[in-house]
Amino acid sequence: MATIAFIGLGNMGGPMAANLIKAGHKVVGFDLVQASKDAAKAGGVAIADSAAASVKDASVVITMLPAGKHVVSVWTDIIPSVAKGALMIDCSTIDVESARQAHALAGKASLMSVDAPVSGGVGGAQGATLTFMAGGEAKAFAAAKPILEAMGKKIVHCGDAGAGQAAKICNNMILGISMIAVGEAFALAEKLGLSHQALFDVASTSSGQCWSLTTYCPVPGPVPASPANNGYKPGFATALMLKDLTLAQDAATSAKAATPLGQHAQEIYKTFDAAGHGGVDFSGIIQHIRGLAGK
Ligand code: NAD
Repeated sequence: MATIAFIGLGNMGGPMAANLIKAGHKVVGFDLVQASKDAAKAGGVAIADSAAASVKDASVVITMLPAGKHVVSVWTDIIPSVAKGALMIDCSTIDVESARQAHALAGKASLMSVDAPVSGGVGGAQGATLTFMAGGEAKAFAAAKPILEAMGKKIVHCGDAGAGQAAKICNNMILGISMIAVGEAFALAEKLGLSHQALFDVASTSSGQCWSLTTYCPVPGPVPASPANNGYKPGFATALMLKDLTLAQDAATSAKAATPLGQHAQEIYKTFDAAGHGGVDFSGIIQHIRGLAGK
């Protein structure tokens, strides 16, 4: 079993670190926030005095931080203290360029590295059922896989440095767009006097079928476990969807890719977020769509 440093013990990192302990690893953690440190400690994580101190005896280092600038700054800070031969894994959702920068920092110090963002949310982090999308060399991925398996159920090697982040933002761009499409269809159906259940029964078994409809239906009723049945409590908050759509737009701009619907989806979630709904599940976008009628 490995000694693992875990930096960023928030909503996702806290339960992920706890699952590493359940799998028999020793975990030394660090976070800037006392409450996160206390919760992790209660789950069996040994708390270090600093990020650099947490990595001292680790053969694997994992970061789970808000954004690219945090990852690059923490990796710059800790890499001089990381043992030779250790493996660096970043599980945060960040921009592709920062992910590649982090890989380069590790490479300069002859450390293996993997970008491995996740999907599955806090529930997946708690239940160790996350999907990991990994980027990095084959040797680094092979070393990371058994560690990631303690926190998730599906681990996909997507390609070289940054490919995990690329897969994550492409997937979430599909999700953001498709949720708006499903919301628009239900809003139109309501105006046409078509019941939610009738539209669901047809579209869920026809060519309109998609995850946003069949697993995460944005109206209450047809899919009892979807956030629409629970006052649009997240789930996956609008602010996080906006973050991922913005990362997708940044990547599209720097790669010169045309993503007109991705851009429009970003604008729509931005308006919803700016109206104070950042904490609402992203499927609540249907309420914004209904509100546009007649304007
Ligand atoms: P969070 O804000 O709950 O946790 C981030 C933690 O990082 C915080 O506890 C913060 O104190 C800590 N931190 C920030 N800077 C630090 C530093 N310099 N040193 C040490 N700790 C530092 O966020 P989260 O929901 O756990 O998300 C983490 C990452 O996972 C994000 O990139 C997010 O986009 C991604 N993600 C989140 C979800 C979700 O549903 N919450 C789902 C998929 C991916």
